[in-house]
Amino acid sequence: MVKLAVQIKATLEAPVGEDFTFMFKVKCSSCREEHPNWVGVTPTETHEISGSRGEANLVWRCSLCKKENNISRTSRTADFDDSFKRASAAYTLDDSDNQRWGTLAVVECRGCEVVDFDPKGEWACVGAESGTKFDEVELSNDEPEWTDYDEKAGASVSVMELETRITRA
Ligand SMILES: [Zn+2]
Repeated sequence: MVKLAVQIKATLEAPVGEDFTFMFKVKCSSCREEHPNWVGVTPTETHEISGSRGEANLVWRCSLCKKENNISRTSRTADFDDSFKRASAAYTLDDSDNQRWGTLAVVECRGCEVVDFDPKGEWACVGAESGTKFDEVELSNDEPEWTDYDEKAGASVSVMELETRITRA
């Protein structure tokens, strides 16, 4: 089992990551074959693991060696909650200015590894100083930037150069 952290970095004025379906590229650890498609991992959805009473957020069978693998976001330990809060509530201007990576989630991979993350989907952002909420901020690897206008602050807001990486947790 390998624990991996899904991290983001961006030049931005105010982002907040929300719980959503993580789009991952996964690779089988047994035969090193990569799944041909992006697969979705939704922390609120669970699937049964064959031959066990356990459940995981994603259960997939390698098309080459036929081995069943699974991925789950880690259980909500105190440490995890802290890192999740840090990542989701506090990817701040300061983090951005200092080019720090923020951990969005930690996933446990059994029999496989996550090799890439596409931040595809809707994100929620909050104006750093105004507190203005922006829902439905659409980002992805193809479209890693977002801009809008914050009426309350009288300034433009943006998420720029969103980068993602997978690292050992
Ligand atoms: Zn395989």
